[in-house]
Amino acid sequence: MSSFSADSRPATRRPAPPAAERPGFAGFGAVVPPAQAIAISGLRKVYRGGAAAKPALDAVDLVIPRGSLYGLLGPNGAGKSTLINILAGLVLKTAGRVSIWGIDIDAAPRQARAAIGVVPQELNIDPFFTPREMLDMHAGFYGVPRGERKTDEILAAVGLADKANAYARTLSGGMRRRLLVAKALVHSPPVLVLDEPTAGVDVALRRQLWSHVRALSAAGTTILLTTHYLEEAEELCDHIAIIDRGKVVVAERTEDLLRRLDDKSLTITIAERLSALPETLQGFHLELVPHGGGPARLVFRYRPSRTARGDLRAELQASGLTILDLATEEADLQDIFLQLTGTQAAARGKP
Ligand code: ADP
Ligand code: MG
Repeated sequence: MSSFSADSRPATRRPAPPAAERPGFAGFGAVVPPAQAIAISGLRKVYRGGAAAKPALDAVDLVIPRGSLYGLLGPNGAGKSTLINILAGLVLKTAGRVSIWGIDIDAAPRQARAAIGVVPQELNIDPFFTPREMLDMHAGFYGVPRGERKTDEILAAVGLADKANAYARTLSGGMRRRLLVAKALVHSPPVLVLDEPTAGVDVALRRQLWSHVRALSAAGTTILLTTHYLEEAEELCDHIAIIDRGKVVVAERTEDLLRRLDDKSLTITIAERLSALPETLQGFHLELVPHGGGPARLVFRYRPSRTARGDLRAELQASGLTILDLATEEADLQDIFLQLTGTQAAARGKP
């Protein structure tokens, strides 16, 4: 069991292995690709010196299907970066198994690392190199032979072709982020991992980054990204896992998760005092809530995907009741988040 031994030292960043030890860049495409781009089971991380034995990750099981655009959603401190950094080989796990593209990270750490490109949360870019030089250097680190480098293609893919020879310090924040994505792509990894790609960026840039991520996904790259923005996960990702205090609380296809949101209520306040529902309204599963001596309220719960409210409105009008107020309430991802985690956590709002 030595390969799963507890060790909380952060792993040092190592240069890429020599070409002979690499799994081969064409190789990722050549072999039968695995169904699971990333498979994680029983993953645990306790940082040395971290809050007394409080794990940053605890019993995490997660499968990222090949070809998916997977969102890992959770509040600050949930453990998202820890998980990403374990995949990247930058943090050593305490226990559990992780495989990337079918390669166990303990059995073959170099090969596993060669299968992913990681875009870190921080913008760590050397300002004195041009994007072209930077990608070239990075490809060298990974041992990609000159003839196999796709520098221009990658720069074009992230919309930086015209900045290939500009000094990085002259690039805007958005361009720097895209340059980091480009850097993560130099060794043509089948899996791309982005840690909070749009944290703190404005709406226009966020949209732009999303469209680049979507294009990479459409081109066949499996993408795992972390975010603490509900909208980002909802709009961009086909799968969402919610992580909170080191535990995965839900992991589902986005459409399945959103189906849980298919629950609305409409509260109608009427001027009349009613002791029973008028007959014409009895087919609507309305709940009558008498309100002291004041106006009564009718609460109508329905599934927007199945029930139209138009009919009810028409019947209400026909019944001659005087509608004082209509209020709708709908569940959203924030409610689900609250239900599952008990915390008001992930951010809703503009990055
Ligand atoms: P997220 O990326 O979701 O915000 P992190 O993975 O960065 O969460 O952090 C998860 C938990 O682990 C937090 O409680 C954080 O304080 C702790 N943590 C992260 N990095 C370290 C470290 N190097 N040493 C000790 N504790 C850490
Ligand atoms: Mg983080």
